Amino acid sequence: AKSAGRNNYRLFLPEMNQQVSERVIIENDLRQAVARDELRLHYQPVTDANNQIVGAEALLRWEHPEYGFMQPDSFIPIAEESGLIIPIGQWVLEQACLQVRHWQDAGLTLGFVSVNISARQLREPDLSQAVRNALDTSGLAPERLELELTEGSVLQRTEAARQILEETQALGVRLVADDFGTGYSSLSFLKQFRFDKVKIDREFVRDMLTDQGDAAIVKATIAISHAFGATATAVGVETAAQADALRACGCDHLQGYLCGRPMAPSDLQELLQSGCLI
Ligand code: C2E
Ligand code: CA
Ligand code: CA
Repeated sequence: AKSAGRNNYRLFLPEMNQQVSERVIIENDLRQAVARDELRLHYQPVTDANNQIVGAEALLRWEHPEYGFMQPDSFIPIAEESGLIIPIGQWVLEQACLQVRHWQDAGLTLGFVSVNISARQLREPDLSQAVRNALDTSGLAPERLELELTEGSVLQRTEAARQILEETQALGVRLVADDFGTGYSSLSFLKQFRFDKVKIDREFVRDMLTDQGDAAIVKATIAISHAFGATATAVGVETAAQADALRACGCDHLQGYLCGRPMAPSDLQELLQSGCLI
């Protein structure tokens, strides 16, 4: 039995080593990614009830020299655990602000750009400094910048987060409740922070036409957002039928593959220039 155990152990070890070393490689490469100019921001359009582009969400991509184009789910968790999300997050903030300011100078107005903020960034008092730097460097009006926060990230350290977020909001920057409804105490999350916008999670939008429970959650979320003086944005809108239903419920903004996938800045620029979608 003992030797079988050792055999099992030997068989298991290489696989585990492989996983560990892959993670180490990614972490090491990620450490260089900003300096090597391998990070990219893609932008997904957000539209209003009249199909006009009102803003965009900035979504991170990594052009890895060997692995190619990497989606955020494959490296954001490593960036968070290692703390690398701090310099990367600063790069994202600055890059998004510079891009929108650049378009503005070219006569292309994007109402807002929203940036995802991770839990780890909220533990650093420097977040409000990073936001100020990005606004100063770009000259973008604070009202055009939105920070997307999930309940999970904020409620980990409510008091510290509140102070950072109040400082940031005082600058004029907008706060967005992301992934709304997927956490454990979403309603108190809305009560504790003064959000300007609530994002209805894709999970509820996906089946809202066939599942009455999901439809009820979507409607209730729009109503409660409005009651708190916030607007509601539905995420993951893939079909015209979903868009119609959402508009009928009074949903202010839509985001999803129907209106546009996350795209390179040059592609969003073309969309803005042509002034219309699809
Ligand atoms: P998220 O904030 O929930 O972003 C929305 C995700 O939904 C994006 O995935 C987007 O491509 C996808 N999506 C949008 N519309 C549709 C649709 O109609 N159908 C489907 N199936 N999916 C849709 P993406 O770009 O892979 O980003 C994944 C997550 O990575 C984001 O989820 C966000 O949590 C995180 N992330 C992305 N960029 C950043 C960043 O700069 N900083 C941080 N901290 N996190 C980021
Ligand atoms: Ca988001
Ligand atoms: Ca999400």
